[in-house]
Order: sequence, then structure tokens, then C-alpha cells
Amino acid sequence: MSAKIIDGKAVAAERTRQIAEEAKALANAGRPVQLVAVQVGEDPASKLYTDMQARQCEEANIRYELRCLPEDIRQQDIEAEIGKLNVDPAVSGLILQMPLPAHLDTPAVQLAISPNKDVEGIHPVNLGRLLAGGHVAPCTPLAAVELLRRACPELGGKELVIVGRSDIVGKPLAIMLLHKSLGSPTVTVCHSRTADLAYHTRRAEVLIAATGYSQMCWQSYRRRSKEDASAELPKLHTQAGGEQVLAPLITAEMLGEGQIIIDVATNRVPKAFEDGKPVLNDKGKTAMRTMGDVDPDAAAEKAAAVTPVPGGVGPVTVAMLLKNTLACAKNA
Ligand code: NDP
Repeated sequence: MSAKIIDGKAVAAERTRQIAEEAKALANAGRPVQLVAVQVGEDPASKLYTDMQARQCEEANIRYELRCLPEDIRQQDIEAEIGKLNVDPAVSGLILQMPLPAHLDTPAVQLAISPNKDVEGIHPVNLGRLLAGGHVAPCTPLAAVELLRRACPELGGKELVIVGRSDIVGKPLAIMLLHKSLGSPTVTVCHSRTADLAYHTRRAEVLIAATGYSQMCWQSYRRRSKEDASAELPKLHTQAGGEQVLAPLITAEMLGEGQIIIDVATNRVPKAFEDGKPVLNDKGKTAMRTMGDVDPDAAAEKAAAVTPVPGGVGPVTVAMLLKNTLACAKNA
């Protein structure tokens, strides 16, 4: 079998067009949609990200404002700024650029955002509301569901296995998939203490992988190798093209035939290894790549449909931030 590759960029573009139409209709009715990004201090990496947010909002007919606050802002002052944005009727949604400087209490700042303007869907109130449906949800689980509904329109009675149970991905995703409106698959959630992971991944008709395992292995190796030069490299794996890469968590033997696979993970890991050492780039640094949790060669051969990494869940996650912003505007 040669799996269908689910094109996340195309899905994201389609959803952004739909959101743009709805946002335009709201603006024409005198209720323009506006997203405010709150950033503390100057960080060149953040600029790339906020420029991207601005472009995407423009495509979706959503106004975008970057509110820059001083690096040394006090806790009470940032909470007061957020308080003002919370009650500003022109502001539909708020996003906090991370990381915040170390002197700030990040969870407290996150909690200061009104649940009604929480476009990331991560406020505890919104996670609670998710049990009963909710108007927003965390963006990555929303993206996984969006892709899944296209790859498998009839989820009723299917065996669906999620690997990963974090508060922002695995757990909310499991809750969403238990809603009857999504067709009622039977949901199993696996984690690092699951006794026989392969048993569950093989029997899944739909497999959603969200662990970041290979990156964890690589980071843990890097820490150990600083103290002990003989630290053992994580397990390597030979790809179809012959390159040696870090072994993915979910290998060929752990897959069944004809599965729908949504690979949420974005592991930043060395591009390849030669003689047990990472290959370097032209600047003499380790050349890096992004890989998922599932062996892409095995998935391409065995699955019915699979999301690529990169280019699958990632772009749709961004579109889901716009969807949540629109939902907050409609709900206001
Ligand atoms: P966390 O580290 O918070 O959670 C990882 C989960 O994976 C935990 O539940 C952990 O189990 C489980 N896990 C770890 N190792 C294993 C193993 N060997 N077998 C089974 N389960 C295991 O990660 P996140 O949920 O934040 O992110 C998961 C992945 O999704 C990452 O690669 C991240 O980069 C990616 N991601 C992608 C996004 C996108 O836009 N595409 C956005 C957000 C995340 P336990 O609970 O027992 O520790």
C-alpha cells in the first residue's frame, strides 16, 4: 500500500480562506476581529514569529497588533496591561509571546488572560469548558481533529489510539474525540508507562502520535555526553535513502496495515549520523531536521493516509489560532 500524504499546508490555506470570509462579514457588520499579541522585551526569534502572525492575520482579515512591553516590567504591571485588554471591546483575542523573562510568574500571567479572549484555548476555564464542547480548544488538538475529519470522515466505532497525554495535546485531544459530534471512535490513550505500546499502536485503526520522544532522547544524550564523553548514543535507524537518523518511537513493526496516522510530533534532531557522529552543516554546527514520532518510510508503505512532518499538523495549528480568534469574536 502507498499511503496518501495528507497535505497540512493545503488544509491550512483552505481553512484560512473560510475564516477570512467570516471575519470579513463580521467587519462589514461593524465587529472587526482583532488579535493582540503581548510581548515582553525584544527577542529576534520572537520577531520572526510575530511577523508570521501578522501575515497570517492579514490573510484571514483579522487585525493584528503587537503590544511590546518593557523587559523589566513588574508582575502587577503586566497583569494590569492584560486586564485592560481583557475589557477592551475592540480586542477579540490575546496571545502571550513566550518565553517571558525569568522574573515574571508565567502561569500567573497566562491566568490573567480572560478565558473569553484566550485564543490558545489553554486557560483552565476553557479546558474545563471543553468537557461540554467549549467555543475554543488548544490549537494543536484542534488541528489534529481537522486533519482527521478529512482523512477519515466516518470515525464511528473505530479504534483510535493516542500516544501522549500532555495537558496541551494528548488529554484535550482525547476529550474532544469523546464528543459524540466527532463520530464516537473508541479512544485509548497511551503514555510512557504503557506496558505494551506496540500492541496498541498495531491494533489502532487511527493512530495519533504526540510524544516528541526522539528529541527527548537527543537532549538527554547531549546532557549526559557533557559529563561523560562515553555516553551511549540513542538508537539509530537507517532510512529508505540509506541515511542513519535517530530511531523514531513508532517503528515499522509497531504499525498495522491501512491505518490513518496523524503525527503531531515535531522533534528537532540531527539531520543524519555518520560513523556514530552527527553530520555538520557548512558552519560546523550539527545539521538539524524536524521529524515526527512515526517512521515515515514505514508509514508511507503500510498506512492508508499519513500526515507528513513537517507540513502536516504544524501549518493547521496556526490556522486554528485564527479559528479560535474568530470564535472569541463571535462569542463576545
Ligand atoms: P510533553 O513532553 O508535554 O508530553 C509528551 C507525552 O509523550 C507524555 O504524555 C509522555 O508520557 C509521552 N511519552 C514520552 N515518551 C514516551 C514513550 N516512550 N512511549 C509512550 N509515550 C511517551 O509534549 P507535548 O504534548 O507538549 O508535545 C508532544 C509533541 O508534539 C512534541 O514533539 C511537540 O513538539 C509536538 N507539538 C507539536 C505542535 C504542532 O504545532 N505541530 C504543537 C505542540 C506540540 P508521560 O505522560 O507518561 O510522561
